[in-house]
Amino acid sequence: MAKILKGADVVSALGEKMSLEIESLKKRGITPTLATLRVGERADDISYEKSIIKRCESVGVAVKSIALPDDVTQEELLICIDGFNNDKKVHGVLMFRPLPKHICEDTVRNALCPEKDIDGITDTSLASVFTGSDKGFAPCTARACIEILDFYGIDCTGKKAVVIGRSLVVGKPVAIMLMGKNATVTVCHTRTVNIPAIARQADILIVAAGRAESITKEFMSSGQTIIDVGINWNEQKGKLVGDVLFNDAEPIVEAVTPVPGGVGTVTTSVLVSNVVKAASE
Ligand code: NAP
Repeated sequence: MAKILKGADVVSALGEKMSLEIESLKKRGITPTLATLRVGERADDISYEKSIIKRCESVGVAVKSIALPDDVTQEELLICIDGFNNDKKVHGVLMFRPLPKHICEDTVRNALCPEKDIDGITDTSLASVFTGSDKGFAPCTARACIEILDFYGIDCTGKKAVVIGRSLVVGKPVAIMLMGKNATVTVCHTRTVNIPAIARQADILIVAAGRAESITKEFMSSGQTIIDVGINWNEQKGKLVGDVLFNDAEPIVEAVTPVPGGVGTVTTSVLVSNVVKAASE
C-alpha cells in the first residue's frame, strides 16, 4: 500500500517556520499583509479568497480585500495595482484570474511589482524560475509540489521525473524546478505520443493535466512517487477528485498525494509564507 503524502503535515512544518518569522517581524513593528484583488463574483474565486483569509488569520498575517465589479475598466484596475505597489503596508498581492475578457491580463499582471508578486504571475517572477534569480516568487502550486517532495525526503537527484501538463502555472515551472533538483525531466502534453509508457518509466510523476481520474494503472509502476495536482469536481461522486485514479495508485505505487488534502492544501500555505518572506525583505 502506498504511503499517503498528506498536505497537512507539510503545512504544519511550513507553519512552524513561518510563525518564528512572523514573531520576529512583529518585534520590528511589521505586520505581514496580503492584499487580495477580485474582479466579479465567481464562486471559485470567492471560495479561494475565503480559504486564504482563514489561513492568513490563523497565522497572524493581515488581509486587505478589494472586490471590483465585472465591468471595471483596465485603467481602474491598473490604478488599484499601482496603489498596492506604492503602499508600504502591503507586502504581497494576490489577484484572482482569469480576468474578464475586456481586460488585457498580460498588461495587468505585469503591472504588479515583482517584490509583491507572491503568486508568481509576473513575467519577472516566471523568468526567475528559469534563471534562478531571486526576483519575484515561483508559482505557488509548482513550489508546493517541491515542498512536498522535500518534506517527505524524496531525493530527486538522478531520478526520472515525468510531468504531465505544460501550463505556465504548474507544468513548466515544476519541470524546471525538478531539473534544478537534479532530476532528469520529461514533460508530456496533449500531443505527446504514448504517455502511459513514458509515465511508467518515472520515479517521480507529477500530474497537472486537469483531466479527472484520467491517470490509471497503465500509467503507474511500483516504486513511484505520484504528486497529483489536479482538482476536479466529480458530479457523479459529488466530491473533488484528482487527475489520478487514487484507487489504482494506492496498491501499486510507493507514495501518492491525496485529493483533497494534498497539493492544494500546501499551495495555500506556500502563498501565505511568501507574504511573510516578502515582508521580511
Ligand atoms: P491547464 O492550464 O488547463 O493546463 C493543462 C495542461 O495539461 C496543458 O499543458 C495540457 O496540454 C495538458 N493536458 C491536458 N489534457 C491532457 C492529456 N489528456 N494528456 C496529456 N496532457 C494533457 O491547467 P493547469 O492550470 O495547469 O491546472 C492543471 C490541474 O491542476 C487542474 O485540475 C487544476 O484545477 C489544478 N490546479 C491545482 C492547483 C492546486 O493548488 N492544487 C493549482 C492550480 C491548478 P496542452 O498544452 O497540449 O494543451
